[in-house]
Amino acid sequence: MKAVRVHRHGGREVLRLDEVPDPVPADGEVLVRVRSCALNHFDVDLRENVSRWPISLPWTLGIEFAGDVAGVGAGVEGLAEGDRVWVLHEIPCLECEYCLADQDNLCLAARMWSVQMPGGYAEYVAAPARAVFPLPDAVSYDVAAAGQIVFTTAWHMLITRGKVRAGETVLVSAAGSGVGHAAIQIAKLAGATVITTAGSDAKLAAAREDGADHVVNYRRENVTERALELNGGRGVDLVIEHVGGEQFGACLAALRKDGRLVACGGHAGEVVDLDIIPLFRNEWQVIGSRTGTTREIRLVMDLIAQGKLRPRVHAALPLAEAAEAHRILEGREHFGKVVLNT
Ligand SMILES: [Zn+2]
Repeated sequence: MKAVRVHRHGGREVLRLDEVPDPVPADGEVLVRVRSCALNHFDVDLRENVSRWPISLPWTLGIEFAGDVAGVGAGVEGLAEGDRVWVLHEIPCLECEYCLADQDNLCLAARMWSVQMPGGYAEYVAAPARAVFPLPDAVSYDVAAAGQIVFTTAWHMLITRGKVRAGETVLVSAAGSGVGHAAIQIAKLAGATVITTAGSDAKLAAAREDGADHVVNYRRENVTERALELNGGRGVDLVIEHVGGEQFGACLAALRKDGRLVACGGHAGEVVDLDIIPLFRNEWQVIGSRTGTTREIRLVMDLIAQGKLRPRVHAALPLAEAAEAHRILEGREHFGKVVLNT
């Protein structure tokens, strides 16, 4: 089969289209013909070796994907050749204390595609049957691949960690990213007022289409001042922050007293200044958040199938153009997700 692999760590040139052996499904596994694999900034981090996850080279990237069942191993029930499916991006152990507490997103022994298992920049993947779920005809492969991680991450941030309530005001940083556009839609579904930021007017217009009530161009405007102004100086109830760097402090300062900031990423700066005085005087809550649990992932995929959440696919490129897909991602030109069609 064809697969795009990283041969050494570095720039986009290290992505190469290779011919590799087809995976063979073991007992309890399903062979999936990948049709669409979504990119995440994590892919770029793995490629550059700045992800803090070790991989052995050469290695196949691609953490979330959808496709068709192309074969089943012994003992697999309920899935048959030709079924349209999506695949859980991280497979929990089901045995550790977190898995037993319905927090399997914190599993101590999870296996993630493209980290512990070769990923979906490939024509075929062999997956444990328990990680493979039916994909309704109404949902395209691209949308299924694009929706899983960012919508689940945003769901976990807003609903589970941030405990958003109807009527609250939520500030979402970086509207154009995968998590940003997902967070806007989920916050609106939850009945919140949404203020969001982006660095271009085109992205802000798209954010309004996704339901954002107020938009702030962070290149032209002061995010803290505008966010405060937009809700009468009171401060926002909840910040969904996934950028880091200077935006972390700018968004934190826009919180009301006892407001919550939920953080899930830091590509603009992983280590930030934090002034402890306003933190305790205002009783701000800074909350870390990872991707969601399997239960949340399945719920989010159902909401996507119902049309209540709408992952945006900015670009779909053939597998051979993986380097160009990385270029789009690194250039931050996109609104929503970039996918590879294998
Ligand atoms: Zn576990």
